[in-house]
Amino acid sequence: MAFSKHLAQTSPYPMAIDVDRAEGCYIWDKAGKKYLDLISGIAVTNIGHRHPHVIQAIKTQLDKYQHVIPFGEFIQDSQNNLADKLASLLPDSLDCSYFVNSGTEAVEASLKLAKRITGRHEVVAMKKSYHGATHGSLSVTGNEVKKQQFRPFVPGTTFIDFNDPSQLHRITAHHAAVIVEPIQGDAGVRIPDKAYLAALRARCTEVGSILIFDEIQTGMGRTGSLFAFEQFDVVPDILCLAKAFGGGMPIGAFISSRANMEFLTHDPVLGHITTFGGHPVCCAAALANLEVLTSEKWIEDIGYKSQLFSDLLKHKSIVELRRFGFMMAVELSSENMVNRVINDLLDKGIIGFYFLSCRNAFRLAPPLCISEDEIRWACAEIIKSIDAAQ
Ligand code: PMP
Repeated sequence: MAFSKHLAQTSPYPMAIDVDRAEGCYIWDKAGKKYLDLISGIAVTNIGHRHPHVIQAIKTQLDKYQHVIPFGEFIQDSQNNLADKLASLLPDSLDCSYFVNSGTEAVEASLKLAKRITGRHEVVAMKKSYHGATHGSLSVTGNEVKKQQFRPFVPGTTFIDFNDPSQLHRITAHHAAVIVEPIQGDAGVRIPDKAYLAALRARCTEVGSILIFDEIQTGMGRTGSLFAFEQFDVVPDILCLAKAFGGGMPIGAFISSRANMEFLTHDPVLGHITTFGGHPVCCAAALANLEVLTSEKWIEDIGYKSQLFSDLLKHKSIVELRRFGFMMAVELSSENMVNRVINDLLDKGIIGFYFLSCRNAFRLAPPLCISEDEIRWACAEIIKSIDAAQ
């Protein structure tokens, strides 16, 4: 079979669901088995699989044109409309978007932009963070296990503890940027104090460092607001988006002020370039995705739905349930138990998943459109699986 023979594997133990189709909160395999997707393709299908408004936007764009030119040269309606919509939803200081292909590219490019804005070279990042798998993003990722075989990285990165205000003095006028996930996702949903992010913002302003928020996982409604920064009353200098941004299509963005973005146009010209960034079909999908997110009540409802998960997921073996909206980590007593629960759920047609750097917890990141009944059923099954894994 090509999957195990001619397709590169990323681990020795892939879930290997043989996908036939997907719709809303569900995926079906070729044998007709139905799975409730409680991870949204890892925080991607926030509005569910194949939302009709997104599918229609893709088809309409496909009937006009696909790729015509690398990002930035031609005027394309789908890019303009998406950038306009973002500017209408974001603060004035985040009024200029650069569209890329993925989360890691958004991170890489935002680090380059911060260097150009400040003329500085060093960066501060957070321990236990995850920002992507390419060299620049791995340089600012605080996960030793994922990094150790791939050195050397981009020099000049200082790591500080996330949510520890006593370390903020280590951010100085040498630093071009501080990069942070407002809520650390792959560390197992680590939620900072509101005062910490405010103090981080103040320190960056004081020393002239660019504050980059990696909202690749927290964005697009997942935390109960369109972007997580809105709930912390802190505005970053650069905002990185990807994952759920494209409504299931591959697109990322880094967003800043027009004045900041100008730096990428000179010294050198074409300071960041990408062939496929801002692909018109992906931009059309991303705009449709935003239209759905801003017209449905789903984001508003996350508060009580997340609370429902919390009310129903009561078990003596649950060490902790960390959650912020629909970013949830169910911590159990061991990695082994997590494996058994995830496998048992899969047998029953429920998809939960691991975290990159928190092996004794499993991830729940359902589509925002999941119903109360589906939550009740899923939680009852999760409790049974935890019972069986004792
Ligand atoms: N930043 C964060 C916070 C992420 O969660 C991820 C993906 N897990 C990335 C960056 C990298 O995104 P991509 O896989 O699209 O490169």
